[in-house]
Amino acid sequence: MISSPSSLTLDQEALRTNLEFLRKHIGPHPKISSVVKANAYGHGISQFVPLVEKFGIDHFSVFSSDEAYEVCQLISPTTRVMIMGWISKDEIEWAIGRDVEFYVFDIQRLEAAIHASKVLKKPARIHLELETGMNRTGFAKKNLEVALNLIKANPNQIHLSGICTHLAGAESIANYYRIRHQLKRFKTVLSNIESRGFIPEFRHMASSAATLSYPATRMDLVRVGIAQYGFWPSQEIFIDYVRTKQDKNDPLKRVLSWKSRIMSLKDVKEGEFVSYGTTYLATSATRIAVVPVGYANGFSRSLSNQGRVLIRGYRVGVIGLVNMNMMIVDVTKIPDVEQGDEVVIIGKQDDMEISVASFSEISNQLNYELLARLPLEIIRSQIK
Ligand SMILES: *Cc1c(COP(=O)(O)O)cnc(C)c1O
Repeated sequence: MISSPSSLTLDQEALRTNLEFLRKHIGPHPKISSVVKANAYGHGISQFVPLVEKFGIDHFSVFSSDEAYEVCQLISPTTRVMIMGWISKDEIEWAIGRDVEFYVFDIQRLEAAIHASKVLKKPARIHLELETGMNRTGFAKKNLEVALNLIKANPNQIHLSGICTHLAGAESIANYYRIRHQLKRFKTVLSNIESRGFIPEFRHMASSAATLSYPATRMDLVRVGIAQYGFWPSQEIFIDYVRTKQDKNDPLKRVLSWKSRIMSLKDVKEGEFVSYGTTYLATSATRIAVVPVGYANGFSRSLSNQGRVLIRGYRVGVIGLVNMNMMIVDVTKIPDVEQGDEVVIIGKQDDMEISVASFSEISNQLNYELLARLPLEIIRSQIK
C-alpha cells in the first residue's frame, strides 16, 4: 500500500450543483463547454471528465492536443472536444480523423488543416479566432481576409464550427471598457463575416467571469472553467452576483478537497525564528505543526506566512516560508492537537471551509494557479 502525504477528493454533488446553477443562470440556449485544461484545473482529467459528461455536458475545451487525446479516451463518440491552443502540424490529421475541433488563429495552421483534410477526404472542424483587443492569438484584419478567402476556396475542407475570441480579464471591473470594446469589435467583425456567407455553428467569447457577469457575451456557447469547479473568478464577480439577490449564500460549491495530516508537533520558545531564514519570529511560546505539503506538492511558496489551513475545526495560519515538501502552521490555540490530525488545505472541516476566500485575500489569480499546479501524482478519489 502506497501512502501519499496528501490526497484529493472530488465531490460529485457539488459539481452537479454548480452545473445546475450555471444552466439556470444562463438560460437554456448557450451550450456549456467544460474547460478542462491544466489537468482539469488540478482536479484530474480522468476523474473529472466522466463526471461532467454524466451530468449532461457534451462539449469539452482543452488547451493542447495531448489533453484532447486524454479526454477522447474518456468520452462518448458524440461528445465534442475543442483545442483552444497548441496542436502541432503533425497532429492535425489525428484531430480531423477523430472530429476534434481546434482553434485556427494563423494562416499556417489553416493551410495545414486544408492540406490534412484533403489527405483524409474529411473536413476539418475549426474555430476561427478573432483578435479583438487581448493581443494574444487571433486573426487581425489583414490576415482575416486571407483566411476567409482560403476557406471560401476550400468549402469541402473546412467546416466552420465556431467563430470566437477571448476577453482580456472580464473578472475585473478595471477592465470594463476594454471588455465592452472587445464585445463591440467582435460583433462588428462577426456580422461582417456572416454577411458574406460564413455562418459558424457557434459564436463564443465568454469564460466564467463573462458568463456570470456579461450576459451579452454568452452567445451560442460559454467556455466555463473555474466556476464549474466551484470557485468565483474573482470576489468582484461574486459581489456582482449576490448584489441583486435576497439569498446572499454562495451558490457555487467547491468540488475539490485537499487534505493532509500533521506529521510532527513541536514547541518553540519566545524569540525563536521558525523555518528557513528570519521571516517568522515567535513573539510568544508557540506550538507548531509540520504538514508534509510544500511547493513541490502544489502549495505555492507565495503562501508563506499567508496561507490558512483547517485543523480540528480551527482556521490556523502558515508561518514562515513554505518549504519544498513541508509547511509549518501555528497550532498554539488548538487544545489536544495531535500528530496525525487531519489538515484541510482546500475544503470543509466541521462547519468551517477553506475556499477561494483564504487565497483571494492575497490574489484571486492564486486560486487558478494553485489549482492548476496540483501535481499529477497526488491520488484523486471521489465521494457521493
Ligand atoms: C481558460 C480559458 C477559459 C476558461 O476560463 P475560466 O476563467 O476558468 O472560466 C475560457 N476560454 C479560454 C480561451 C481559456 O483559455
